[in-house]
Amino acid sequence: MSVLTTLSQQYPSVPTLTLAVSTVSSLHSLLASTPRADSNSIGYILNTVSKTTPALPLASACRQYGYLYRQTVEGQDIDKASIENDISNLHRINTCSLDAQKKSILAKRYLDTAMHMEDTALAFAECRCLKRSNELIPQGFETFPVAFCPAFIKKSVYDTAREETKIQNNLWMKLVYNPDFLLEQCKELEKDDDFVMRFTNIIRKVKDSKIKQGLKLAISRNDVMLQGDQFYQVEFNLIASSLGPISQRHSQALGRLNSIFGDSKEQEKLSEAQLSNNEEFLFKAMKDTYEAYGNPKAVIVMVARKEKNVFDQYAPQTLLLQAGINYRRYTFEELAELMEIDADTGVARVMGEEVCLFYFRDGYMPDQYTDKTWEVREKIELSKAVKCPDASLQLVNMKYFQYVLNNKAHWLKFGMSEEQFAICRKSFCDIFSLSDFGDDKAKMLSHIENNGGLDEWVLKPQREGGANNFFGQHIKEQIDKCSIEELKAFILMRKIHASVQMGIHCDWKSVRVREVIHEFGFFQYNLWRDNSPVSTAQGGTLVRTKINGVDEGGVGMGFAVINSVQLE
Ligand code: ADP
Ligand code: MG
Repeated sequence: MSVLTTLSQQYPSVPTLTLAVSTVSSLHSLLASTPRADSNSIGYILNTVSKTTPALPLASACRQYGYLYRQTVEGQDIDKASIENDISNLHRINTCSLDAQKKSILAKRYLDTAMHMEDTALAFAECRCLKRSNELIPQGFETFPVAFCPAFIKKSVYDTAREETKIQNNLWMKLVYNPDFLLEQCKELEKDDDFVMRFTNIIRKVKDSKIKQGLKLAISRNDVMLQGDQFYQVEFNLIASSLGPISQRHSQALGRLNSIFGDSKEQEKLSEAQLSNNEEFLFKAMKDTYEAYGNPKAVIVMVARKEKNVFDQYAPQTLLLQAGINYRRYTFEELAELMEIDADTGVARVMGEEVCLFYFRDGYMPDQYTDKTWEVREKIELSKAVKCPDASLQLVNMKYFQYVLNNKAHWLKFGMSEEQFAICRKSFCDIFSLSDFGDDKAKMLSHIENNGGLDEWVLKPQREGGANNFFGQHIKEQIDKCSIEELKAFILMRKIHASVQMGIHCDWKSVRVREVIHEFGFFQYNLWRDNSPVSTAQGGTLVRTKINGVDEGGVGMGFAVINSVQLE
């Protein structure tokens, strides 16, 4: 006998799944399309509160058998929206193509989290998967939007991606030690782009300066998406890439959910991804830089404004303090008043303290600068302190250089081998710029037309993005609208059709079971001196998950949620 029937007999006054159909007529069609619950499936129990209904034992029975239990008050309207949401989520699970075991894991996770939102939210808060809820209120925090199921990736694919990431990090570092090449590549871009021109001017001044600056620190993140077992690069970030610690905390919170809800087998699998500690990774990058700089009294300065992502910004602080290294925070505006650079030695001091490393968590976008802050940035760049990123790292972070490095000749020029190029090329999407089509818009459009059409391509700003990409029909509209000069500021990239998994998305307003795709970011830091590695290590991963069909990807923009890896 099915569990549902047993329950119905035990609690005859309770409107069960079937009874709900008659009580909630507007939900009729939804309920009708939900497969009937039986002992190994999922079910829905709607309990109208009345004196005769034994709510507690029914709720525990529901929990035991994996039924979704919701209470409504007699005479009052039920919360139809949340019930519709529950039913459609459960329906999606029941009708998806996963095997029975995976379906039941997913259903259990949905039922547990949807029914026990309080425990769920606390798990993420206690693991400090947090951000500031409003930039202007320093003490108000909230949990990130998150996924409740991890992103699955095969161990072999994960390992290959890490190996390729290592090779590419070498190339990018060699590139930033070649200012002449960078300046040559940016000759055209800087004419029309003030942001690029500011950085190229700084690079020229640094080149001519008498202050010797050998050390460079890059914290990179290679972002890829999976298409089957092959991964493709979305972009290669080189500017103090962030969110690693948050993804790690997310992984810990999922582990906590596993404990709370009794899913211990899942927890064992998770621990593999937890081997990489992104907080320690950041700490080590900074500690090694501090040591390489060589003054034990020097401090690390994080340049940041008030922003939401503070837990991430402060992630390395505890370990740094334990190691006796001070981690100070200043805004560009404060530095304008408080920083001094010694003209002879290039030593940077803030409030009298020598700075070994400026860690920029600000100044990535043109709108983050005024003339005054540009002055500060330039002073810092000309100082002896290490910058993460420095002007050259920030310049090559532009997507334009991803295009430049899709070219074998450039790999060979920087001492990389044909074999290394061949290994990495497999994961590169084809990328074009307007110059590849002789600056002819019609040729660009016909190339798109003859190679899969608009759905096979993405049009991206060459500079650091912030979710300004164009997909589908918008590509054509943009090409038509832009002048030749404007279109030169874009790259045309093959679209990755990422593999879809079923997942659970939560923005703390609603929980949604949807087809999702994941973007995996692989961290590495590189501390180099005079074009040779001093210290380098790989970190863990950042996973951002978005609902399939939503093209843009940023967590900050609200398109994606934080997730973490589970190796298969
Ligand atoms: P940024 O992070 O600087 O805004 P990205 O290159 O990461 O720029 O693009 C933003 C988002 O757009 C990505 O997270 C991804 O979701 C999507 N995207 C970018 N390039 C591609 C591509 N080639 N194929 C599919 N989606 C892409
Ligand atoms: Mg990105």
